[in-house]
Amino acid sequence: MFNDQFLKTQEKKIRESIERIEKDIEKREKYSDIGGSSDDNALEFEAFEENLALGKSENKKLQELKAALKKLENKEYGICAKCKGKIEEARLKLYPEAVYCATHAK
Ligand SMILES: [Zn+2]
Repeated sequence: MFNDQFLKTQEKKIRESIERIEKDIEKREKYSDIGGSSDDNALEFEAFEENLALGKSENKKLQELKAALKKLENKEYGICAKCKGKIEEARLKLYPEAVYCATHAK
């Protein structure tokens, strides 16, 4: 499958991404408490919606990253969920959390 050096690099990248996203989420949760003037409710609502959408995609990514980490531990990392083939290394370098090979990714 993949060589150890590659897997180690991927694990490091994944852990760093998880850390970064968790910090981002924490920051956003702090900010969402601030503000409350009635003048710009509409604006605030918009920002809130945006944050919500952002938070959703972040949470999704976080879950994918954690799943990838688990796969690394179980030695199942880099296997396409559809064809069970090997996911391209170049693709994994770009998306360490990739679940599908280039052929089966949307
Ligand atoms: Zn595939």
